[in-house]
Amino acid sequence: MPIMSPSMAEVALPRRLDAIRSVDHETILSGSLDVDLFKRFQEAVEDVNGPVDYKLAFQRDVENHMFIDGECSTRATMVCQRCLDAVVVVVQGKFQIGLAFSDEKAKHLPKHYEPAIMDHNGNIDPWELVEDELILALPMFAYHADGECEIKQPKAETEQVEVTEKDDNPFAVLQQLKSK
Ligand SMILES: [Zn+2]
Repeated sequence: MPIMSPSMAEVALPRRLDAIRSVDHETILSGSLDVDLFKRFQEAVEDVNGPVDYKLAFQRDVENHMFIDGECSTRATMVCQRCLDAVVVVVQGKFQIGLAFSDEKAKHLPKHYEPAIMDHNGNIDPWELVEDELILALPMFAYHADGECEIKQPKAETEQVEVTEKDDNPFAVLQQLKSK
């Protein structure tokens, strides 16, 4: 087997991280990660169009809860729900993760934290956290910007659609979803 040197990004973000030590040192980790290492996220979209940028700031709040203030972003290809062609969307997540030793302890965290469970040594898998947040940040429906869909309709047909348009037609429903 060939020996492969890990990229700098992998060095910067270990698979297992001592969360308690990171909180005590108020560690901030940030960088850019190879998207090929995010298999679950890749499976959730058509394609991923760039590296995953992340920032994780370990700290304590005023009530002494350990938490991670974080963000992650990348660009992914999804299917436009209007024209069913590919559309590239920016996927961007901001999150606050409360750290706990068990599900039971996590219940006592303030509600605005998403809980993450540490192992008995206080370790977490930061890659899994970032990947979970990317998946959560995916839009439910993706659309091209107005006027950029690849629907090539003859002009006459377009006019006819407008004439017959009613409030209950499916396009109106799509428009409502889009505006939310
Ligand atoms: Zn479209």
